[in-house]
Amino acid sequence: MEYENGYQQQQTPHSRFDCLLFDVDDTLYPLSSGLSAECTKNIKEYMVNKLDIEESKVPDICVQLYKDYGTTMAGLRALGYDFDHDDYHSFVHGRLPYEYLKPDPVLRTLLVSLPIRKVIFSNANETHVAEVLGRLGLEDCFDDVICFESLNPKTQTTDTPKSGNEPAGLLQKSPILCKPSKNSFQQAFTMANINPHKTLFFDDSIRNIQTAKLTGLSTVLIGSSQRTKGVDYALESIHNIKEAVPELWEAVNKSNDVRSARKIAIETICGSLDP
Ligand SMILES: [Mg+2]
Repeated sequence: MEYENGYQQQQTPHSRFDCLLFDVDDTLYPLSSGLSAECTKNIKEYMVNKLDIEESKVPDICVQLYKDYGTTMAGLRALGYDFDHDDYHSFVHGRLPYEYLKPDPVLRTLLVSLPIRKVIFSNANETHVAEVLGRLGLEDCFDDVICFESLNPKTQTTDTPKSGNEPAGLLQKSPILCKPSKNSFQQAFTMANINPHKTLFFDDSIRNIQTAKLTGLSTVLIGSSQRTKGVDYALESIHNIKEAVPELWEAVNKSNDVRSARKIAIETICGSLDP
């Protein structure tokens, strides 16, 4: 099968899904790793030290911007703070204790056993995504990566938020494009040649999941077992994929059955041709 954007389906003919789309932080590793807490600490420090925001106001602003814009960074830009994106990322992510993350052979085995295209879709920057995947031992498990730089290329010199996040209500638009904006999903689909109706999306953010659902994606909420609106599957840990979505492996099994049947048929034909 070929989509209008040229992407060729490469996997088993029986699968309902031909792509698995993954968030990174708190999805591929658990919140309990402590990495996200360190990240939040760094964001707050950046707001105080680099943007001169009053320290007592920072926690509330941080929560509100994350809620309204998907990332604090996108919210800060919407409020009019001007700063270098690379500088922000190196301050916030570059100083993270990545040693908190350990190789995850269980997840690796699960991913490797699925012959379905796998794509990363993260709001974080490229260096951070690469570092996390490397620490988890998953660096070669994904076919494509959509991250901050993919949706916010440097060549975009204007700050006019033509494609940036549009919050609900009368809030200022942000020049930064990121999840959960619907537009960020549409751009990711185009960039990675994704058909949302044949893609299963994994994320720990309920807002990302709910927007994802509106774009046609099937959804897996990670870090919770509560299935709410927009959530097709809810898993405490990504390690539970096989129990929660066994159909992903059923397609693999069917494909193996077809391959075995073909092999037997070929051997039988070859055998019958032997003198
Ligand atoms: Mg996340």
